[in-house]
Amino acid sequence: MHYTGTIWRPPYEASSLLLQVTAGCTHHRCKFCTLYDDLPFRFKMSPMEDIESDLLEAQLWGTDPVAMLSARLQGLPRPEAVRRVFLVGANPFVLTFRRLKDIAELIHQYFPMVESIGSFARITDVALKSDEQLTELHHLGYDGITIGVETGDDQALAFMDKGYRSQDIVEQAGRLDAAGISYNFFYLAGISGADRGVEGALKSAEVFNRTHPLLIGSSMLTIFPESRLYQEIRQGNWAEEGEIEKLAELKALIENLTISTRIVTDGASNLIQVRGNLPEDQERLAGSLDRLIRNADENALREYRVNLRHL
Ligand code: SF4
Repeated sequence: MHYTGTIWRPPYEASSLLLQVTAGCTHHRCKFCTLYDDLPFRFKMSPMEDIESDLLEAQLWGTDPVAMLSARLQGLPRPEAVRRVFLVGANPFVLTFRRLKDIAELIHQYFPMVESIGSFARITDVALKSDEQLTELHHLGYDGITIGVETGDDQALAFMDKGYRSQDIVEQAGRLDAAGISYNFFYLAGISGADRGVEGALKSAEVFNRTHPLLIGSSMLTIFPESRLYQEIRQGNWAEEGEIEKLAELKALIENLTISTRIVTDGASNLIQVRGNLPEDQERLAGSLDRLIRNADENALREYRVNLRHL
């Protein structure tokens, strides 16, 4: 398989076939982000020949007797039929409609049983497609895309250089709804900065309540020295939320969401694992966060954060 650099995928895409169609990020400007710093370039599209050869290779895993025997000898489980493909790269949804269509057709050619195709996307990637194109992408299988919206707090979005406003989140999510493409959001607790965590959560809840994400995956901001944000802090332009404040922010977000969605905190950056459906589990989740906050030791939580070397 042609995998370049660190491959990131949402935890819930663990059983999807990961197909690299882009590498890096077209935006590459968010101040806190170091995810694709290991690449010697900013963004690249994979050649169609590489994509096709990866599909062929993946197809062989499931059908080639030698590959199956080798997996068995290594104690690996028998490969399951591929039902979902997740396109790898920071924002493959930026690709032109034509290229996304070609990729979907190739996927269906090699894996006729595939039911859906996911990818990471930026809000600005959705804006590049017409309504008709989004609808056709839905018919081609694109569904359950994951958008790192991070927050609905305009002040934080602007400072972090995210490249869109909260109103854009509402508009583009509405266009995905209309096209039938479901989506998940990533939220980033801590992005609003010291003493603004709960305010950022309230603004985010207000924005998210006007959208329909299947799931909101929340992470906690972890600042690495290579990031532009680290320099902003050193220059005194921004201050980080404490760990207890990040937990209070997450609690405020959960308490103020009025939509039906699933909320999860997966990944190493989180100090607590939260999993539940809203609104049914709202009280339970807020209650457990409340208990944690009341008994939390900021120094101990901080120690976890500073010792985190990789997300
Ligand atoms: S859009 Fe995502 S991958 Fe790209 S710089 Fe921002 S956070 Fe990083």
